[in-house]
Amino acid sequence: MAAKNSLRVSLIRITNGILMTKVHNFSAGPAILPPSAIQESIAALQNFAGTGLSLIEISHRSKEYEAVVAEAQALVKELLNVGDDYDAVFLQGGASLQFDMIPMNFLGDNETASYLNTGVWAKRAVKEAGFFGNVNVVASSEDKNFSYIPKDYVISGDSKYFHCTSNNTIYGTEMFHFPTSPVPVVCDMSSDIFSRPINGNDFAMIYAGAQKNMGPAGTTLVVLKKDAIKKASRKIPTMLDYQIHIDNGSMYNTPSVFAIFVTLHTLRWIKSVGLEAMEQRNKAKADLLYAEIDRNGLFRGTVAPEDRSRMNVNFVLNNPELEADFFAMCKAANLSGLKGHRSVGGLRASLYNALEIESVQALVDAMKEFERIKG
Ligand SMILES: *Cc1c(COP(=O)(O)O)cnc(C)c1O
Repeated sequence: MAAKNSLRVSLIRITNGILMTKVHNFSAGPAILPPSAIQESIAALQNFAGTGLSLIEISHRSKEYEAVVAEAQALVKELLNVGDDYDAVFLQGGASLQFDMIPMNFLGDNETASYLNTGVWAKRAVKEAGFFGNVNVVASSEDKNFSYIPKDYVISGDSKYFHCTSNNTIYGTEMFHFPTSPVPVVCDMSSDIFSRPINGNDFAMIYAGAQKNMGPAGTTLVVLKKDAIKKASRKIPTMLDYQIHIDNGSMYNTPSVFAIFVTLHTLRWIKSVGLEAMEQRNKAKADLLYAEIDRNGLFRGTVAPEDRSRMNVNFVLNNPELEADFFAMCKAANLSGLKGHRSVGGLRASLYNALEIESVQALVDAMKEFERIKG
């Protein structure tokens, strides 16, 4: 009976009354968004804020749209608990362009910045910083295929800033503690921003591509503390200068109109849940899945237990030959997006904010059923 239940397909009713099967979305990014953000976006594509025009055919300088950007910037600051000494802007070019903009703006040719190397994205940040100045990699977990977060390292007071990645999307490790740093801390929070309360005041800069936990692809959040890191003395092209975007309220050029709108409605939902409650929700989902990975003899986790990410859960089958069968079972059970990143293989279940615990339960049920058949 339990076996039958485990493959039961759940149904959701969509607005026009048609019943559709629910697909459980474990995609690592672009990723699941709250239903309210999707619904608001559909409505605004037809008639934005009572203008009678679509959101994607109006001026970004209309007062209705300026209100969207202003509210999104204010919500970000509220959720990070930071005041007027911080600016929040929405830029383009992805988190990847930040790997260049950070050192271009802040790291002089003869200055040194400290970086923590915890995965593919951190490594890319290191590489780009090297185009602008000196990079000191204070610690790296590359020796064990990025399966843990280095703990004991010293950040030199001579560094311009310290850069870290709070959640390693590809390898599934997460920083639950940040080091005490003698220099300003810059953090790539692309894949765990707003998954738990964070004191923004501990950071000189926080940035995040929206498409993991905060919105759709196409916009990148940058939160900067005023004057926290001294500007490098080089000339900076206008579009790559943070101060230009701050002075123009994310509107120096045409912003990613649609992406920021969806982000606003995701932020509203995050605020309505609350960050403490969001953390509990995310913890419950992660605990449920890790418990099954540890219990079920067919599977094993790939990262150090104390560094296990609540956002991206990486695991493998002990017998890799069973992988194709398990993916087939997942497909039949409407479990989508579970393939590990091409650089690591295995499985990765991304449990971002908007994913409901029933989706994690559906995955756990499939794992139990697979054990019954193959174990
Ligand atoms: C996805 C990701 C990036 C790259 O983001 P893009 O927006 O595609 O450039 C950088 N850092 C982390 C932690 C990520 O998860």
